[in-house]
This record gives sequence, structure tokens and C-alpha cells, in this order.
Amino acid sequence: MQTQVLPANEESLALAARLLREGQLVAFPTETVYGLGANALDAEAVKAIFAAKGRPADNPLIAHIWDRAQLEGLVEIPDAAPALMDAFWPGPLTILMPRTSRVPDVVTAGLDTVAIRMPSHPVARAMLRACGLPIAAPSANRSGKPSPTTAEHVRVDMDGRIPLILDGGPCDVGLESTVIDVTHGTPTILRPGGVTQAMLEQVLGRVEVAGSVLRPLQAGEKALSPGMRYRHYSPDGQVTLVEGDEADVVRALGLLCAQAEANGHRACVMCFSEHTAALAKWRPHDIGSRSEPEEVAHRLFDTLRRLDTEGMDVIFSEVVAPEGIGLAVMNRLGRAASFHTIQARDVV
Ligand code: AMP
Ligand code: MG
Repeated sequence: MQTQVLPANEESLALAARLLREGQLVAFPTETVYGLGANALDAEAVKAIFAAKGRPADNPLIAHIWDRAQLEGLVEIPDAAPALMDAFWPGPLTILMPRTSRVPDVVTAGLDTVAIRMPSHPVARAMLRACGLPIAAPSANRSGKPSPTTAEHVRVDMDGRIPLILDGGPCDVGLESTVIDVTHGTPTILRPGGVTQAMLEQVLGRVEVAGSVLRPLQAGEKALSPGMRYRHYSPDGQVTLVEGDEADVVRALGLLCAQAEANGHRACVMCFSEHTAALAKWRPHDIGSRSEPEEVAHRLFDTLRRLDTEGMDVIFSEVVAPEGIGLAVMNRLGRAASFHTIQARDVV
């Protein structure tokens, strides 16, 4: 199959809408990451998403809408949901809702809730509006790879597998949406993202964060959010996180790289802008300023993808505080590193 990458404009949006109505796949930009969309009401079309990504069938998808009226007949709206929609839609918040039988099993991996989001990106909105369908869309990467934040990332993973990629430039947030469950008990963040716990608490009162956000699932533990089960967001190289006092971390990063190189590895660091000069010898990948966790979120997936392009096989990374958007950063970075962490003071 020939994959077209087209700038988003009236013509390419009309083509996207036609392809989606025909049951084909279209990759499109959102404010979080690029999505790989199909008609959420067409089970065959949705199966093609899983095939193109190599995604396990038990990992459910998010259905994207541009207008709340599209929820009619698809879901039952939880009591707490309207306040969330008022506050955060359109935007990077996904809300779980009990589904009706109109939502095919393949979208939800058989779960009785479906994840719903209204994106704010103008291209996503225009495409959703033009096709008039709810669009099931996971991130447009091959399963296990970092999510794509540019059309070029999508092309690298999906060339020859899908007919169309709409190019809307780099994504704003750079990490996937926050997923929240308000269907029972205390509202719970299943996956942290651009809408933070503090922002949600302003609307809902107390909000919990699922325990598995910052650690691997334990043996026998049920995944509240099925995507948490898989090795995710990983470059080909082995990532190790280095924690501790700022000065110790910078020294430890250098020592660890030197050791890895001595063992024949191609090593590098992922570090804050403030530390690239001190670590210049170790091919520093600038993840943004220490004081700008939004910038780190925005750059993270592109950095992880670059490591592969450059053939790095051992990577040592700084960490951010797991607060605000930093919680989402550490959730993704932790998984990229399979939660492999070293204390800097044990090295220096
Ligand atoms: P992706 O679209 O690749 O960002 O993945 C969507 C993620 O949302 C999945 O990995 C799941 O963890 C989560 N998700 C989607 N639907 C549900 C659901 N019904 N219940 C719990 N988590 C869900
Ligand atoms: Mg994904």
C-alpha cells in the first residue's frame, strides 16, 4: 500500500473523511500525540488498527468525538462526567463511560466501559466533523515504540501500512491524554497526562492515582488500564534512570557513560538543558530545562526515537519530580526504562 503524507487542508481533510467512511485508516495530529483512526462503529475497520500497529487485542482504544451529541446511544454518561467535559473538553482528558452494544467489542477489548475523548487540535476537530463518525484511535506508532509527535514519526512506523497521514506539525503536549475513571468509587487517574491531578481535583474534589502509574504491575495484579501491562515507549537501547541530588546526578551520568563505553557500548545521556555543557562528552540529548516539565513532556518521545536512529545502546537519563505534568513524564520514562533506576550517590 502506498502511504500519502499530506499537509492538512480542505482537500486532504475531505480525502481523510472519505477514507474513514470507507472503513480505512487515517493517521492525524492531536494536541497530545498523532492518532491512528478508524470508524469506531465498524469492527472490521477497528481490527485493521490493531493489525497495522501490531497491538495486542486486549488493549482497548479511545473513541474520539468533536461534539457531545455523538455520545447519544453510545454510552451512559457518568454523573461526574459533565463537569469534567465542561472544564477540560476539548482537550487532553479521556473519560471512561459505560458503553451500549453499539460500540463494538473490539474497540473496548470486551470491557464494559469505553474511553472517550474530545481533542482540541483544529485538524483533529475538522477531520472528526467532516467524517461525522466517532473515531477509534490509539497512538499511531508500532506497538511498543514511543508515541509519534510528528508526521515523520508516523511515517517511519506506518509507511506502507495505511493510506494517509495528515501532517499538522509537531504535537503540543507531546504525551498521551490523561485517562480518568469516574464510573465507581473515588475518581481515579488510570494514566496521567496533560490534565493533572491538581486540575482534576479542582473540579471533582479528591482524585486518586492508580498505584501502577509509577511502578511495574505486580504478579497477578489486575491492570486498571490495560495499556499499563505492556513494555511501552521503549527505544531499542537500554534506558536507566539516575536519581539524586543535582550535582551527584551530573557526576554519576558521566561516570556511568564512561563505564559503559569501557564495556564496548555506545552510551549517551538524556539530561536537562542546564547540564548539556557539563556532559558534552556523552552525546547529551537535551530533554528541556529543569524548571520546565512541560518542555520535557513535549520533547520526550522525540528524544526516545532519536536514540534509536542514532543507534545508542545504553542510555542514562535524568528524572523530573513526579508532580503535575511530571507525573505523566515519569510514567512514560519509567516504562521506557522498564523502571530500571540507579541512585546517583551509589555511583559517585
Ligand atoms: P493509546 O490510545 O495507545 O494511548 O491507548 C489508550 C489507553 O487507554 C489504553 O492503553 C488503555 O490503557 C486505556 N483505556 C482505553 N479504554 C479503556 C477502558 N475501557 N478501561 C481502562 N482503560 C482504558
Ligand atoms: Mg499508545
